[in-house]
Amino acid sequence: MTVYNFSAGPGVLPATVLDQIQTEMKSFNGSQMSILEISHRSKQYEEMELEAEKDFRDLMNIDDSYAVLFLHGGGTLQFTNIALNLTDKYHHVAYVDSGHWAQKAMEAAQKIDGLQVDRIGSSDNNLPKISAPDDDPLDYLHITTNNTIEGTTYHQIPNSTQPLVADMSSNIMAQPYDVNQFDLIYAGAQKNIGPAGMAVVIVKRDRLTSHPELSEIMDYWLEDQKHSALNTPPVFCIYAAGLVFKWLKKFGGVPAIYQQNLEQAKLLYDYVDNSKLFNNSVAKDERSLTNLVFGTGNKQLDQQFIADAADKGLVNLAGHRLVGGMRASLYNAMPTAGVKALINQMKQFEMNHGGF
Ligand SMILES: *Cc1c(COP(=O)(O)O)cnc(C)c1O
Repeated sequence: MTVYNFSAGPGVLPATVLDQIQTEMKSFNGSQMSILEISHRSKQYEEMELEAEKDFRDLMNIDDSYAVLFLHGGGTLQFTNIALNLTDKYHHVAYVDSGHWAQKAMEAAQKIDGLQVDRIGSSDNNLPKISAPDDDPLDYLHITTNNTIEGTTYHQIPNSTQPLVADMSSNIMAQPYDVNQFDLIYAGAQKNIGPAGMAVVIVKRDRLTSHPELSEIMDYWLEDQKHSALNTPPVFCIYAAGLVFKWLKKFGGVPAIYQQNLEQAKLLYDYVDNSKLFNNSVAKDERSLTNLVFGTGNKQLDQQFIADAADKGLVNLAGHRLVGGMRASLYNAMPTAGVKALINQMKQFEMNHGGF
């Protein structure tokens, strides 16, 4: 049975990347040593890291005015690190409250002494606007481009007079964003980049200054000086991410995968919109390409659908416990055959449960 993994994270990886990891596992680059065994001070490691970084820069069009960091601690540690590293000037930041992860990011900033944290939100059903008053300078305005749990996305980023910081954990490289619109972008790796255990940080170098009061591994400036290898870096994650970057380049880069992501999302959303049983309440222009939420509105039926689908090899379709229903995460590595198999299963289920 073919298994399609719709997990929101850690998410599906390209099969060819997993094959390559397996082939090279005992001898990285002909060294007779595993990538799990080589020193992070070795030439082999340094070459591998530089190449991963170069491919990532190519994919995202990142020039040298930005640092690219591969760091421990996932997305969550960066919630705190950005608030510690980028707030020297005004001690004032704002967070667009677009969902669960945006709130988590904001709460981390609120724990920092002497930092004023404004919340930008609204009570209506649409995503809050990305804007903050421009008469009151901020160290940054924080946004979450894709709300992993709620299945919503900011597809367009407006020009902002305030410096933007973005959590792109769940849609980095799934659709094109212009890095130059942001002072900092960060993403936990385990959704669209590689294995868990790492975050990628892209930050404007002119925003970085030394922070001797911080633990060294939380100091972005120092991490940039040390090429993310101040202490032992997440070697395997960087290696596996590097293979994913090569896979994506071969695929045609972000523009090509974006086309595929658009097509896949359209297949599923069109089906849901025409279904009498399944629905999705997200405004059409805010619907996520990577985390597609839907449900029947009936908890028991949802459970049944999830169980039936799992029996057919369509796994990890349960929505987040906070919202219930179903969630299909269609990260870059999800083949279109998986989306089609899911839609067939939904059709079957709808026929069996009186949707017609
Ligand atoms: C998953 C996720 C996080 C948390 O990432 P960790 O690497 O588990 O800390 C943060 N933000 C968003 C948008 C996410 O989807």
